[in-house]
Amino acid sequence: MTTRRELEHRYKELTALPDQWNSWEELMRLAMEDAAAAEALGEVPVGALLVAPDGTILARAHNRTITDNDPTAHAEVLALRQAATTLQNYRIEDAVLVVTLEPCLMCTGALVHARVRGIVYGTADPRTGVVDSAMQALELPFHNHAIWHTGGILRDECAEQLSAFFRRRRMEQKN
Ligand SMILES: [Zn+2]
Repeated sequence: MTTRRELEHRYKELTALPDQWNSWEELMRLAMEDAAAAEALGEVPVGALLVAPDGTILARAHNRTITDNDPTAHAEVLALRQAATTLQNYRIEDAVLVVTLEPCLMCTGALVHARVRGIVYGTADPRTGVVDSAMQALELPFHNHAIWHTGGILRDECAEQLSAFFRRRRMEQKN
């Protein structure tokens, strides 16, 4: 039987902040920089990174769907591909994904396949976010891998980055 103490220990391990970093906010700011790079390309500003427990950034990526003509080129998927190539392993165990927007169904599925340890997101996506909002996809009973997750890290700043982009785009379409 698993004791309460073992469970608490496991939870502490799961939720541990990677070495070398002072807060999830600090990592989220890096992801926001990547989101800004997406925006510069005319892409919806979403940025993501994967961080190892020792604090190493394994990958940094941003949305490239329009640029690459690729519906799967979400920041999360691109970060997974980058890290998997670097590690020469399709499993990116123990890594945590930090992303400015709550992941969609495709990305959440990919993150389960990659066996990441955790998902830390900025602002919620009430329409297509499936960690907490539109559904709780990580809680589906058939997954063979559980992922720790938390949201709302720099929520207002991440939300503002996105809404400023859509505001600007609406203005441009009007003119
Ligand atoms: Zn996605």
